[in-house]
Amino acid sequence: MNNIDEQLQELVTANRILAREGVVDAYGHVSIRHPERPDRYILSQSRAPDLVDVADLMEYTLEGDPIDQQGRSMYTERPIHGGIYEARDDVLAVVHNHSPTVIPFSVTATPLRPMFHLAALTGPEVPVWDIRDNFGDTNLLVTTMEQGRDLARCLGGHRVSLMRGHGCVVAGKSIREVVMASVYLQVNAGLLLESLRLGEVKYLSPGEIESMTESQMRLTGQERAWEYWATRAGRANRVQGE
Ligand code: MN
Repeated sequence: MNNIDEQLQELVTANRILAREGVVDAYGHVSIRHPERPDRYILSQSRAPDLVDVADLMEYTLEGDPIDQQGRSMYTERPIHGGIYEARDDVLAVVHNHSPTVIPFSVTATPLRPMFHLAALTGPEVPVWDIRDNFGDTNLLVTTMEQGRDLARCLGGHRVSLMRGHGCVVAGKSIREVVMASVYLQVNAGLLLESLRLGEVKYLSPGEIESMTESQMRLTGQERAWEYWATRAGRANRVQGE
């Protein structure tokens, strides 16, 4: 397999993992920047992530125009991906999801910050984007590049931004990084909801976040998690090196 084929398989595995771990359901999506064409990204046709296969993957310009649509239907929210790739040269993968555990933090003043060590990739601060601020009453979906760019502005240099009453986006340098960050963002949100009921919460310090992020970016640690998640998602035979 060449690099692109491997990346496409990895993207399929990412779709299945996010579904298996309950981060996405019928909705939500994950994309990668095209490995050879940084002005394009790759995203499934409009389909539940657990059902996505290589034949579903489509190439898009950053504006969201398909290169070879072949009659396939498209996610209306693809401007989320284009807006972020356009604004952030460093971003090579993006997840958008509606994790029900995360959403309470998008509609209240309680910040979603990491308090659990494996959630360090969340970063010290998580902005909340509210589509209503600049676009008034909408169906909350990010369907135009103007909205995608507005969301990307709110994300800024962070890895995660919440979307009020809707979900979140997670942007990073690799598929494995954004999947890991998405899974543990959800786990941390659940733990935080439990902890807040008990009393004042001690969050990770900026130094702890930095130190743990370094550990989580090590490929050996990511490989261990990936092998586990891929196997649970029925993609054991697609783990790299096999
Ligand atoms: Mn959505």
